[in-house]
Amino acid sequence: MPEAEQAQQAQQPIKLLRTSESESLQKIRHTTSHVMAMAVQKLFPKAQVTIGPWTENGFYYDFDSPDAFTDKDLKKIRKEMIKIVNRKLPVTREEVSREEAKRRIEELGEPYKLEILDSISEPITLYHLGEQWWDLCAGPHLESTADLHPKAFALESVAGAYWRGDETKAQLQRIYGTAWETPEQLEEYQRRQEEALKRDHRKLGKELGLFIFADPVGPGLPLWTPKGTILRSQLEDYLKGEQTKRGYQGVVTPHLGKIDLFKISGHWQNYKEDMFPMMAESEEAAAAEQGFALKPMNCPFHIQIYKSELRSYKELPMRLAEFGTVYRYEQSGELGGLTRVRGFTVDDSHLFVTPEQLDDEFLKVVDLILSVFKSLQLSNFKARLSFRDPESDKYVGSDEAWDKAQNAIRRAVEKMDMNHFEGIGEAAFYGPKLDFIFEDALGREWQLGTVQVDYNLPERFELEYVAEDGSRQRPIMIHRAPFGSLERLIGILIEEYAGDFPLWLAPVQVRLLPVRDAHFDYVKEVAAKMREVGIRAEADTSGERLGKMIRNAEKQKIPVMSVVGDKEVEENTLSIRTRASGELGAIAISEVIEKLKNAIADHSNF
Ligand SMILES: [Zn+2]
Ligand SMILES: [Zn+2]
Repeated sequence: MPEAEQAQQAQQPIKLLRTSESESLQKIRHTTSHVMAMAVQKLFPKAQVTIGPWTENGFYYDFDSPDAFTDKDLKKIRKEMIKIVNRKLPVTREEVSREEAKRRIEELGEPYKLEILDSISEPITLYHLGEQWWDLCAGPHLESTADLHPKAFALESVAGAYWRGDETKAQLQRIYGTAWETPEQLEEYQRRQEEALKRDHRKLGKELGLFIFADPVGPGLPLWTPKGTILRSQLEDYLKGEQTKRGYQGVVTPHLGKIDLFKISGHWQNYKEDMFPMMAESEEAAAAEQGFALKPMNCPFHIQIYKSELRSYKELPMRLAEFGTVYRYEQSGELGGLTRVRGFTVDDSHLFVTPEQLDDEFLKVVDLILSVFKSLQLSNFKARLSFRDPESDKYVGSDEAWDKAQNAIRRAVEKMDMNHFEGIGEAAFYGPKLDFIFEDALGREWQLGTVQVDYNLPERFELEYVAEDGSRQRPIMIHRAPFGSLERLIGILIEEYAGDFPLWLAPVQVRLLPVRDAHFDYVKEVAAKMREVGIRAEADTSGERLGKMIRNAEKQKIPVMSVVGDKEVEENTLSIRTRASGELGAIAISEVIEKLKNAIADHSNF
């Protein structure tokens, strides 16, 4: 059975919740983290406790300790934790005054706790494990350490961390752990962690030869190899085809523009930290902010195309689309593989619509996104209504514009009857969004496509159209990207498919393996015939032993392979073996080509 299938079968019965989804897990993870801290201080009396929150899959605690914790220490700590669990210590809450908390902390001699005390507000609560150990904490916790299952938690790793995440402050050691309701859940979680490592797109991307990073180029700037470029082009061509059917028009815009442009859009004022620094020709120019910047978004450029002529209502909706590469200055610590990069290509489009067209166009965009997901076989997703946080001042535009835009998104979601939830504070600075969150085969969530309704940029750029009655009106903009970005999407797809791309996306679709050198001419000829009709076929003329050639093709996860010997040459056939269907036996060449062409065209398997 292929790995991916095995993983899916095994995973069906056990649902693993995130901590934020389960109060029971919150209590378990909180309590386990205290048990861990108590165990650490028992074994390493000089270790000082700092903070120990839960994470979505477990918990961590940061310690200031003169001893560097090793993997061996983790084992010892775990054993000590089991002892604490078996002692069935009651977990008790005590509310104290600030002075009393201070007095007790000073008695313990733990200066970090004093700082924590300064940063928390009343009520000040202490949680005790039995009589000998306590920490400042707001809870919630279990009632007794006996409620923890000693076989349902594990310590995972030690990493360096800074006090308060500040590099100028003390360096601490962070111990990560995980805790569950049952040993079965822990086992399933650990299995998924292992599977995630195997599927890691950074590892598979290298093995399958899809992309590289190069030191002299810089972090977060992927370079696409020929195979990876095929993958990109397939995705691009597919979406461009869908867009053409739906009335989109392609445009191409430059990678940089004047600072003035980004001042009008508001990026310079609101988004500068995420942009690469300004390029200016001289110091005077820099001082006057007369320079250029790499674009962090494509919108201001598409807007210029709209604005280049006086538009009539008859031209709307106008749907301008571009696979536009943008640049964002992510912190280098946050960069990892393709899911967070500094240069990436957005499958971007901006729709300029009249108020009457808004709802309908928005629904059409959502419909396009859903059909893209279907084509990519991504079925497990929900929609997040990413709205502004009314308390925050990081947004541009009037309350009225925001309400209108948020209501339009709400109407669409209700009409489409989609699985959705609200994310307050998740909006872009110029407008609310509908984001599609995809849950992969291992239960991890990724943000994919997005649609935004925007009344603000049309205002800032003073966009207009001539209405039917001859008056000048302001269009509304829809920003949308079904993939999100090619980089991110491909990173996610590699992991979701575990490198096993569907036939239409696979960089190499067919590999022909000749049994002996005498069959070289035949396989070369057949491969050429396939390439002529657009099938990505290659002949393995390495001269390796057959077993080795088969293993290589398997490692490269090539969807279709064919071993060619005397019999095939004589009968003009191919013995076909596919990753999706296994051994299919000998089939006439013309029939193989026909079937491949069809399967590629309708995105199915062979
Ligand atoms: Zn706690
Ligand atoms: Zn945009």
